[in-house]
Amino acid sequence: MAPGSDPLAICGRVHSVETFGTVDGPGTRLVVFLQGCPMRCAFCHNPDTWGFGRAGAGDAGGPGRDMSVAEVLEAFERNRPFYRTGGITLTGGEPLAQPDFVGALFEAAHASPAGRIHTCLDTSGATFDPARPERFERALANTDLALLDIKHSDPAGHVELCGMEGERTLALAVELCRRRIPVIVRHVVVPGITDAREELEGVGRLIARWDNVVGLDVLPYHTMGVAKYERLGIPYPLAGVEPMDASRARELRSTILAARERARAARG
Ligand code: SF4
Repeated sequence: MAPGSDPLAICGRVHSVETFGTVDGPGTRLVVFLQGCPMRCAFCHNPDTWGFGRAGAGDAGGPGRDMSVAEVLEAFERNRPFYRTGGITLTGGEPLAQPDFVGALFEAAHASPAGRIHTCLDTSGATFDPARPERFERALANTDLALLDIKHSDPAGHVELCGMEGERTLALAVELCRRRIPVIVRHVVVPGITDAREELEGVGRLIARWDNVVGLDVLPYHTMGVAKYERLGIPYPLAGVEPMDASRARELRSTILAARERARAARG
């Protein structure tokens, strides 16, 4: 092995680690929040993960810290008995902004001498580049489950809500489908922005295209991130928007699923 090529020594820029996560993938999981995201979703409750932590990059978010593949695996092994039905989730920020780290960690997790570790990638696809598939090969080849954030079904609405086009997300969705990687779609419903019937039906039609979608999480907008914006001195984009009731989010989920079924039936 060439000097410096030890995959266990590859470092990711990490914002924080949650030891017993229960909402980011199946079972109880080690959840690693990676630093850096190019999107600026108006509802984001983790603005402290936006900055890429590179000196002189002018990032507003926190700088994070380096953590090696070996260190993440050690953190997992310390509590392995609790993760029996879980595994490791990489989220952020945007994990695919650091595809080498994701690939090295997930590959090592699968090859763990103590037993294969289930891997889950929580991504918006914002940094996926279909023109450079080799950059993402190792990461995707070792992903057991993807949590794919669909922010908005309408291209203009996506730009308005997230400050970026959604084309990379769609390209990643197609790639995940091609690879038959199971996907749970996640969609945040914001009152007055993404809760209109037209938008929900648009999401339903969109996800009807992908046969690998095994679940849909409709997440009600909440305001728990407001204090972070204040701390970082960033104006809160959704000031005055009330949180959404969880029961309302469940109703809206039904609207999306009904539209999905209609689209699939029409497709035959
Ligand atoms: S993609 Fe995720 S981390 Fe990035 S701005 Fe949107 S909600 Fe925040």
